[in-house]
Amino acid sequence: MSAATHPTERGPVVVVGAGQAGAILSIYLARQGHNVTVYESRPDLRRTDIDAGRSINLALATRGIVPLIDVGVIEDVDAITIPMRGRMVHVDGDPTPDLQPYGSQEHEVIHSVSRSDLNAILLDAAEATGNVTLEFDTAVSTIDFDSSTITFEDGRQTPFGVIFGADGAGSRVRKAMGLAGACTFSTEWLDHDYKELTLPPNPDGSHRIDPNALHIWPKGEFMLIALANPEGDFTVTLFAPKTTFAELDSAAAIQSFFDTEFGDFTTLVPDVVDQFLDNPTGRLGTLHADGWHYEDRAVIVGDAAHAIVPFHGQGMNAALESVRTLDQHMRANPNDWEAAFSMYAAERKPDADAIAAMALDNYIEMRSGVVDPDYLVKREFALDLEQRHPAHVKPRYNMVMFSTMPYSEAQTRAARLADIITSAIADPALDVDALVDALPPLPSLDPLADPKALSTS
Ligand SMILES: Cc1cc2nc3c(=O)[nH]c(=O)nc-3n(C[C@H](O)[C@H](O)[C@H](O)COP(=O)(O)OP(=O)(O)OC[C@H]3O[C@@H](n4cnc5c(N)ncnc54)[C@H](O)[C@@H]3O)c2cc1C
Repeated sequence: MSAATHPTERGPVVVVGAGQAGAILSIYLARQGHNVTVYESRPDLRRTDIDAGRSINLALATRGIVPLIDVGVIEDVDAITIPMRGRMVHVDGDPTPDLQPYGSQEHEVIHSVSRSDLNAILLDAAEATGNVTLEFDTAVSTIDFDSSTITFEDGRQTPFGVIFGADGAGSRVRKAMGLAGACTFSTEWLDHDYKELTLPPNPDGSHRIDPNALHIWPKGEFMLIALANPEGDFTVTLFAPKTTFAELDSAAAIQSFFDTEFGDFTTLVPDVVDQFLDNPTGRLGTLHADGWHYEDRAVIVGDAAHAIVPFHGQGMNAALESVRTLDQHMRANPNDWEAAFSMYAAERKPDADAIAAMALDNYIEMRSGVVDPDYLVKREFALDLEQRHPAHVKPRYNMVMFSTMPYSEAQTRAARLADIITSAIADPALDVDALVDALPPLPSLDPLADPKALSTS
């Protein structure tokens, strides 16, 4: 250990950020027996109507479900999720969109969940431990590791023994670790932005389109997606090049763009122009951070360590999974948190790099692959191989969304499978079954994973 004393003897255990990562981390720390203070810059979302400013709902999948089972909140989460069985692909002029199921198995669905409702469940569970103090409207400004002092934006100061940075992509904790020489980082910005819109319910409150699917309007260079909310509306997101956003600089230009590109959608959203003008445009980037901990004094989790683009719907899932990994290493090394933090970082960094790359790949798959005949043939091929060799093959999307194997393993397996499929299509005489049987067997799911944990219909 870097210090003679355990970090908890030096001062308070502090978590910065009460998003999904910070909230679940505070539960895990409380269950390890620590008293935890969480500082969150925003007001308490359970008592204030905060515009999350980003996506209002998120896709939850197996890697995120497992930690929610682990901390005992899954039944509450089940009550607020909507299962999505596949991608509903809307193509110009086709009145009956095509459902591309995510998997061949009953439980292979993803779940639309409200960002703020999930966060509220985790905050309630954190408070229920009796060991967590939540301090809202308290923004951390700087952290001085020499004096072990946090300075807040309002000028107040407080000591800390160990600090957990769950403060998102723009993390102040990471910045302080950088100044201390423990971390280097940069953000690779995408030349595409996003904007959220709302597809309202029918007058009777029902959904206007199938709620049990993730809707995509793929347009090659850009796309719209829509995820249902329990209130009957959909959160819709336009992802497009910055140059496209730049051209949408007047009501007429916006109306014409939506009429031309997304005619069926636009008839369902009469105020699309007002929404477009009112709602902010968000940036998208991949954070590359090396050095996720500073001795046993600070460690970063979630977007603070590995913010990624949202095209695989995995940022929050990865954040929850990372926090559970950190908890496991801390439990295994209760007296040496420097070792625990170091093992956590060594285990998760390759996985964070893998999902960052796969998330970027999935943008192309969503905005153009889903209507590309070549892609569709390969996807069918992969699903067919999975049927014939279930012990050895899972398509990439399914390994990411419906398994708990390390992301880096999913990436390696997916590359090998893609090579086999490409070769088999080029050479129909190839003995594909022999090649697939030679692949290492798929690992089993995490013992905690329960395919029936969330309702699938
Ligand atoms: C458009 C979009 C769609 C997405 N869709 C999905 C999806 O479908 N599925 C999925 O898994 N992920 C998705 N994500 C990613 C997901 O939103 C993030 O990965 C996840 O929210 C990360 O959680 P976090 O707790 O690490 O960070 P955050 O949610 O950013 O939480 C950080 C918290 O720290 C607080 N904070 C920040 N600075 C300070 C400070 N100085 N002092 C005190 N508090 C501070 C913030 O207010 C915030 O509450 C999406 C992201 C975007 C942008």
